[in-house]
Amino acid sequence: MKIAVLPGDGIGPEIVAQAVKVLEALSRDGMKIEMEEAPIGGAGYDAAGDPLPAATLKLAQDADAVLLGAVGGWKYDALPRPMRPEQGLLRIRKELNLFANLRPALLYPELADASTLKPEVVSGLDIMIVRELTGDIYFGQPRGIEVRNGERVGYNTMLYSESEVRRVAHVAYGIAMKRGKRLCSVEKANVLECSELWREMVIEVGTSYPEVELSHMYVDNAAMQLVRNPKQFDVIVTGNIFGDILSDEASMLTGSIGMLPSASLDSNNKGMYEPIHGSAPDIAGRNIANPLATILSVAMMMRYTFSREEIALRIENAVKKVLAQGLRTADIHVAGTKKISCSEMGDAVVAAL
Ligand code: NAD
Repeated sequence: MKIAVLPGDGIGPEIVAQAVKVLEALSRDGMKIEMEEAPIGGAGYDAAGDPLPAATLKLAQDADAVLLGAVGGWKYDALPRPMRPEQGLLRIRKELNLFANLRPALLYPELADASTLKPEVVSGLDIMIVRELTGDIYFGQPRGIEVRNGERVGYNTMLYSESEVRRVAHVAYGIAMKRGKRLCSVEKANVLECSELWREMVIEVGTSYPEVELSHMYVDNAAMQLVRNPKQFDVIVTGNIFGDILSDEASMLTGSIGMLPSASLDSNNKGMYEPIHGSAPDIAGRNIANPLATILSVAMMMRYTFSREEIALRIENAVKKVLAQGLRTADIHVAGTKKISCSEMGDAVVAAL
């Protein structure tokens, strides 16, 4: 297993170090794991004047999987847009053709109190959001700001091709087959042509998955249903911008942004794995960040890129065990549990493993 390790900025290096401990523990157990580290984001800019240095991209291209921390920081906010850390992230996703973003929203029973929603609404929650990641209004052309009729206008293009929708739909149906066999496609087909085509393609791909029950929902309703009755969902598939918003909403159902992993896959299941949160500059360098989302990203890596379900479960069970022991980082700490640091959490997971 060749893994490119890209810690990035802010808390990135702290949390990735804990996930690396887990990989090293698996390696000691006899798994053949090779890891190599490279800078990305602000760290890439500092090292090579580019948020995605050529050597980092090459390392990621040659690897089977990429483990990423997070990018971004206040000191880079004034840089011209192409040099900003977030551009490194957008570019690596595009360069590696990582078109399917998998974001589970899973509530650990021990953390039911951390959610802002009532425990009965969220307990037992287990949703998988599949977000298309390389198309849509974030990439569609034309785009720009220009003067029309004596004033500036800003515009972007929401655009999906048939093949872009088909490939992400296949991923979503495949995941639904391994879960509860229910797929909800989210769009805005009542007002957007782009969504009309999306819906047609999702229905067409569905003929290859007769066992999966397909439903459709407008994005505004989906945003409402996610807080009204989130347990109605099994797998959700949606485009880039709707998925961006809905997956952040879903993440808060579970209480802490520090708990949720993600995977971004290409058509051969090569993937980039990262926590859903950002670089948290407000707490960086203090050894208090929650590394569990990053550790759980390694579990997803074992499941989706390396097809090692038993290892994925082993990591996930180690995390559950640590939570059951009452160990918590500051973000999920409540009365009656023990507050520990980022590195102590990494050690605890390794011990439980
Ligand atoms: P953020 O996710 O970094 O932080 C939001 C809040 O959650 C902060 O209060 C932070 O302390 C807390 N938090 C986040 N992760 C945590 C963890 N593991 N443990 C404990 N607390 C945690 O979002 P933001 O503040 O909007 O953005 C900060 C920077 O991160 C910006 O530069 C932004 O562009 C970047 N960002 C990067 C990514 C990415 O790399 N994928 C994603 C989102 C934001």
